[in-house]
Amino acid sequence: MGVVYSSKLWDSKRLATIRKAHQTRHFYSAVILGLVVGSMASLVIFNLESTSVKASTKAVMPATQAVAGAVTEEQTDSMDKLFPVGNNFSSLPLQKKTVETPTPSPAPDCAVQACLALSFDDGPDPVNTPRIMDSLSKQHVSATFFLIGNRVAGNALLVQRMYRQGFEIGNHSWAHPNLLKLTAAQIQEQVNLTQQAIASLGIPAPTLFRPPYGAVNATVRSTIHMPIIRWDVDPKDWAKNDPNVVIATVEAQAKPGGIILMHSTHAETAAALDSILPNLKARFQLVTVSQLLQLTPGAVGEYVGR
Ligand code: ZN
Repeated sequence: MGVVYSSKLWDSKRLATIRKAHQTRHFYSAVILGLVVGSMASLVIFNLESTSVKASTKAVMPATQAVAGAVTEEQTDSMDKLFPVGNNFSSLPLQKKTVETPTPSPAPDCAVQACLALSFDDGPDPVNTPRIMDSLSKQHVSATFFLIGNRVAGNALLVQRMYRQGFEIGNHSWAHPNLLKLTAAQIQEQVNLTQQAIASLGIPAPTLFRPPYGAVNATVRSTIHMPIIRWDVDPKDWAKNDPNVVIATVEAQAKPGGIILMHSTHAETAAALDSILPNLKARFQLVTVSQLLQLTPGAVGEYVGR
């Protein structure tokens, strides 16, 4: 402080009085300063506690991390975007070992009714497979998806949803090779790896196999001990045809007992499906491949339709 005490101007008594008064001012200043600092500290603590409560109710992150600033508002928001509440997968358990068995709808008797099976190859595809599943579900139509094994693990929730919604899941090899160029051991590996990938999601291992490109020879037939499923209608959706061409081909060639080949990886297929389904539903019972063929357990052989 800039106060100067001069013995020339002030006697010692007055000086002592002034010093005492000055010390008293220091004391009160210190008390006021202490109160101010204490109030500010209380406010800071209150704010931290508020942030902590907000963070702990917003997400599952521990409050201690929220206080320490380890998880910011932006970070929890981005987590919400990664795992949005209310999407189609949110209720699915992650990597659960058993997936709830779907309630089977009563299968029509395809020996007497006009049945038709839609089959979708090459998925799971994270974009187009859900779109196709949504179209089918909206129309209450079942179908069979032949999956490529090496795409299963990266789309686990999608495959579990596929099973839970009652779609049939078949094996379409591990990496989609031309089986005619492989040894029996290599073919077996292509089948087994895919069976394991699907079963590891808590889903029963497939009972149907569809060879890539429909390519079958004596080695394939003697190595694969489950029904080999081909098709009798191919609208060539894989060629990225105009959806109207896919629609026209399916509607013109579909016949009772038939198996239609499409792909769950193409936007054109997803776009065509909303038009195809009402037409086919008016003419056929749309069923899974297993329902169409009414195969008994342990059945083998090649099938292009009923
Ligand atoms: Zn394929």
